[in-house]
Amino acid sequence: MFQLLLILLGAVVLFFNRRDSSQRVWARLPTLNDYQTRYPEKTEDANTIRCIHCDSDQTWEYGLESLMDHRRECVCLACGHRLWRKEQESLAIQ
Ligand SMILES: [Zn+2]
Repeated sequence: MFQLLLILLGAVVLFFNRRDSSQRVWARLPTLNDYQTRYPEKTEDANTIRCIHCDSDQTWEYGLESLMDHRRECVCLACGHRLWRKEQESLAIQ
């Protein structure tokens, strides 16, 4: 019984560690504004921002942990690099 508890505890700790680390990786990404300021040559207009790694404009934005997560990150569909982060206030309220 005690061993079972220990395993359960380990799983919980692992779960929270992994959540923490994805939050940390996300927090290290530049914000969309930072990205545009740092790489103005990659910004064609508000909707077309190209990847700094492969120059593709095929990017995909998604919630960090779930569809409705207010912490969004954008990844390049061509090379898989994470490009920038964004916070969406309207999702945070829900
Ligand atoms: Zn790319």
